Amino acid sequence: MSLNIHYKEDFQNRHIAPNEADTAEMLQTVGVNSIDELIEQTVPTAIRLKQPLNLPAAKSETEYLGALKQTSLLNKVFKSFIGQGYYDTITPGVILRNVFENPGWYTQYTPYQAEIAQGRLQALLNFQTMVIDLTGMEIANASLLDEGTAAAEAMFMQYSTRKSQAAKKFFVSELVFAQTIDILKTRANPYGIELVIGSHLDFVATEDFFGAIVQYPAGNGEVFDYKDFAAELHNQNIKLTVAADILSLTLLTPPGEWGADIVLGTTQRFGIPMGFGGPHAAFFATKDEYKRSIPGRIIGVTIDSHGDYALRMALQTREQHIRRDKATSNICTAQALLAIMAGFYAAYHGPKGLKAIAERTHGLAVSLASTLKNLGYEQLNSAYFDTIRFDLGDLKGGIHSGCLDNEINLNYVGNVATISIDETTTFEDIRLIARIFAKVKAVAADQVEVIEDVETVIPSALQRTSAYLKHPVFNSHHSEHEMLRYIKSLEAKDLSLCHSMIALGSCTMKLNATAEMIPVTWSHFGRIHPFAPADQVLGYYSIFNELDKWLSEITGFAAMSLQPNAGAQGEYAGLMVIRAYHHDRGDFHRNVALIPASAHGTNPASAAMADMKIVVVKSLENGNIDVEDLKAKAELYKENLSCLMVTYPSTHGVFEESIIEICETIHANGGQVYMDGANMNAQVGLTSPANIGADVCHLNLHKTFCIPHGGGGPGMGPIGVAKHLVPYLPGHAVVDIDKGKSISAVSSAPWGSASILIISHAYIAMMGADGLTNATKYAILNANYMKARLEQHYPVLYSGAQGRCAHEMILDCRSFKAFGIEVTDIAKRLMDYGFHAPTVSFPVAGTLMVEPTESEPKHELDRFCEALIAIKEEISEVENGTLDKVDNPLKNAPHTVAVITANEWEHAYSRQTAAFPLPYVLERKFWPSVGRVNDSHGDRSLICACPPVESYLEEIVP
Ligand SMILES: *Cc1c(COP(=O)(O)O)cnc(C)c1O
Repeated sequence: MSLNIHYKEDFQNRHIAPNEADTAEMLQTVGVNSIDELIEQTVPTAIRLKQPLNLPAAKSETEYLGALKQTSLLNKVFKSFIGQGYYDTITPGVILRNVFENPGWYTQYTPYQAEIAQGRLQALLNFQTMVIDLTGMEIANASLLDEGTAAAEAMFMQYSTRKSQAAKKFFVSELVFAQTIDILKTRANPYGIELVIGSHLDFVATEDFFGAIVQYPAGNGEVFDYKDFAAELHNQNIKLTVAADILSLTLLTPPGEWGADIVLGTTQRFGIPMGFGGPHAAFFATKDEYKRSIPGRIIGVTIDSHGDYALRMALQTREQHIRRDKATSNICTAQALLAIMAGFYAAYHGPKGLKAIAERTHGLAVSLASTLKNLGYEQLNSAYFDTIRFDLGDLKGGIHSGCLDNEINLNYVGNVATISIDETTTFEDIRLIARIFAKVKAVAADQVEVIEDVETVIPSALQRTSAYLKHPVFNSHHSEHEMLRYIKSLEAKDLSLCHSMIALGSCTMKLNATAEMIPVTWSHFGRIHPFAPADQVLGYYSIFNELDKWLSEITGFAAMSLQPNAGAQGEYAGLMVIRAYHHDRGDFHRNVALIPASAHGTNPASAAMADMKIVVVKSLENGNIDVEDLKAKAELYKENLSCLMVTYPSTHGVFEESIIEICETIHANGGQVYMDGANMNAQVGLTSPANIGADVCHLNLHKTFCIPHGGGGPGMGPIGVAKHLVPYLPGHAVVDIDKGKSISAVSSAPWGSASILIISHAYIAMMGADGLTNATKYAILNANYMKARLEQHYPVLYSGAQGRCAHEMILDCRSFKAFGIEVTDIAKRLMDYGFHAPTVSFPVAGTLMVEPTESEPKHELDRFCEALIAIKEEISEVENGTLDKVDNPLKNAPHTVAVITANEWEHAYSRQTAAFPLPYVLERKFWPSVGRVNDSHGDRSLICACPPVESYLEEIVP
C-alpha cells in the first residue's frame, strides 16, 4: 500500500456540502449528465469568463490560520489613548464565548420570522431599553451602522421633518469627531444642505437652519452645558442632535433631560473590540413623535395568538422595501449582533457596575490630569469625562517618542495631545504616562507622585441625578452562571443555521466556517484603534491589499473600496462615485437613475439619497427586464441619464440573456451601470460584473463571502469599480486613503468594519479559484435540484431560456388564496417542521423565494422539500375540505409546546399532525417559543422598551 504523504484536507469539501454520490443523484433528478451541462444551460455563453480566476492556490484551514497568525503579528497592539469615538474595552468572557464566538447567535438573519427569533428580539429590546435609559429619550432603534452614519441619518431625519422648506442649513459643532463631519459632508451635498461648521458658543440661531449637532462630551474632551444652546435653537424651531458617549451618560445629565431631539453614538465601548474600526453598533434615540421617521429597525412588544407577551420588528410598513424612493433611509443590514452584545454587557455589569467603570475611567483621567499639571503641563480643558487635553509645546517630540517606546498611542494634533482613558486603563498605565511626561522635563521616575485622591470635575449642573437601568433584566444577571443561563435561555428560542437550512432568497445563508471566524477575536485584530499609526497596522494592510486584489479579480474591476459597511451603504457609495464622475466631467445635470420594477427596495432608497430622479423600468411577463422599455427610457432621458441600477442574476433568480445589450444601451446614452451584487453567489468564477458590462458593483460580503448575518448585521458592502471611477472612491478625514478625487467618507472608519474583512479573506484564501467556482456551480445545482423536486407542487415563477433557475427560485403561492391560505401561513407552518421560511413576498407579493446555497447537503435539501411538499398536501386538504378552512394546522401555525401539551385540545386535527407532521421532525424538534405574533396590535401602541414588571417597583439607584 502506497501512502500519500502530501495529502491535505481540502477546505472546499467542508464548505460545499454535496458529496459525489449526492451530486450524481441530484444531476439525475435535474436531468443533466454533469454540472457543466447544467451550467451551460443556465449561464448564457456570451457572458461566461474565458479564463479561470487568477487567485493563489487554496490553503487548508490549518495552513491559513498559521499564515494569518504571522500576518496578525505585523499589527502592533499598543495601549490606545487615542479616543475620538473608539476605546479599548473588555469583552466579558461569558459574552465573548457564548455570543460573539457562538454560531447560535451569529448565524441568524434579521428576525423576520418573529416566532422563532424571540431570543434575539428580547436581546435587542434590552439594547433599546438601555439606550432609552442612558440617553433619557423616549424611543430608540435596534442599532445603526456607526456613529458617523447615525449622525447623517439624524441630519436627514431633521431635514425631512423640518417645518419650513426654506430651512436648508445644518449647524455642526467644530468639536464633533472629524470622521462624523466627513460623513455629514457626503450626505449633505446631494440634498443641497448647507453645513455651517463652527463653535456652538458663537452660533446665532436663525430661521434658515433646520437642525444642529454637537458632541457630548465634545471632541476635545470638554463637557459643555448645552442647555441654553438647546433652548435657543428650539426658539427658532431648530432641532438638536447630540452625539453622546454612552459610558459618560452614567455620570452626565443625559441629553434627553436638557433638550436634545435626537441622541446618537456608538456602543463600541460596551464590550465590543475596536477591531480597527468595527463592527460596532451605533445607537439612535429620539422622541416618540418621530417614531415613523426614525431610521433602522425598531423592536416592539406585542402579543401572540394566545394573548401572551411576544416581540417582533415594529412598524414594518416603514421598511425601505415598501417605501422605496419615498424611504427616509436605506438602512437594511445594521449591527444586530453587536447591539446584542452591548445590551448583554449592560445586563452583566448592571447600573452599579457601569457606573463603577465610568467612575474609575473618569477618576483615572482626573488623576492623570492632576499629575501632569503638577509636572507643569498646561491642561486645555477643565470639565471633562475621560479625555484630557494638554499643550505639549516643544516637548511634544520627546513625549511622542517616549510614548512610542513604551507602546502607547496618544492622539496628537500639532503640539496638542488628547489622552482618552478607557475601561482597560490601569493605575500603572497612567503612572507610566506620567513618568514619560516627567522624563522630558528631567524629573526622575521615582520623583513622580501620581495623585490618587481625586474628585470629579464634572460641573454639578451636569452630574446625573436620574436613575437608569432599573428594569430587572439589568439587575439580575451579575454572576456568571446567571448570565450564562440568561444568554443560553434566549439563544434556545432562536432558530439559526445550527438547526437547519435557512433558505432566504437574496440573502445567501451559507456556511460561516469556524476557521473563518476564529481570527476575528484575536487581540492583534481586535485591540487596534482605527486611527493607529500606519506602521503599527501592517498586518491589516496586507489583508486589505490581498482582499482588494482578489475581489477585483473576482468582479473583473480595477479596484475596490473596502469602506461601506453594509450592502445598502455600498449602493450609496457607488452612486455617489458615479455622481462625482459625472460632475467631474461637467455633467451636473446627469441625475436620472433607471431602476427595474423588481429591484430591491434599497436601490431606489439609495438613489434618492444620492439625489437621483428615479425612473422605473418595466418587467416583462416572464420577469425579465423589458428591454424595449429600457431602451425607450434610456433614449428619452439620455441628456440626463446618470445610471442604471440592476441586480444580476435578476431578483427573479434568472440570468437574463439581454444583460450585455442592456449595459451597452446605458453606456450609449451616457450613463453608468451600477450592479447590485447581492446575487454574486451565482456569478463567482463563471461570469463577473465587469464582464457583463457594469461599471460599479457592491458585494454583500455577508452574503456571498461568508460573513455571518448576525441576526441583522454586521455586514460589509465594499464596492468594485472600473478604472475610470477609481479616483473617486471614498476617502477619509483622519486616515489618508485619498485616490485623487475621492468623495468624502461613507463610513466612520476608513475600512468600515475592518475586522470582519478577515472572514472573507479567509474564505477566498481557503477556497481558491477552483473552490469558489465550484461553490457557484453547486449553488446553482442545489437550486435546480430543489426546483426539480418542488415544481410539481408549487409553480416556479420565471426561469431562464432553457428552463433553469440561477441560485434561487420563486415559488408561487398566490393561487392558494382562493381557499384562504396565505403565503404567511406557509411560512409559519414551516416552523412546525423545524424550518425558517424562505424570503416572503420579495420580489413578488404572495411568493416564497428559496435560495439553498452550496453549503447545504442533499439530505437537508430533501428534508426541506419534504416539508414543503407535506405542507402542499395540507393545503390540498384545506382545498378539498378534509381540513377545516379556519381551524387547520396552517392557520394555527406555529404550534407551541404549551399548546401541544395543554389538557385541552379542541382542534379537528391531531396533536401529532400539529407538532410532528413528518417522522424526521421527532428527531430534532425545534419549538417556536410563542404563537403567531400579532403585528397590528403592537403597532397601534408602540412599546419599544422592556415593559415594567410588578417585581421592580422598588427603586434601584445605581
Ligand atoms: C441584501 C440586499 C441588499 C441590501 O444589502 P444590506 O447589506 O442588507 O444593506 C440590496 N440588494 C439586494 C438585491 C439584496 O438582496
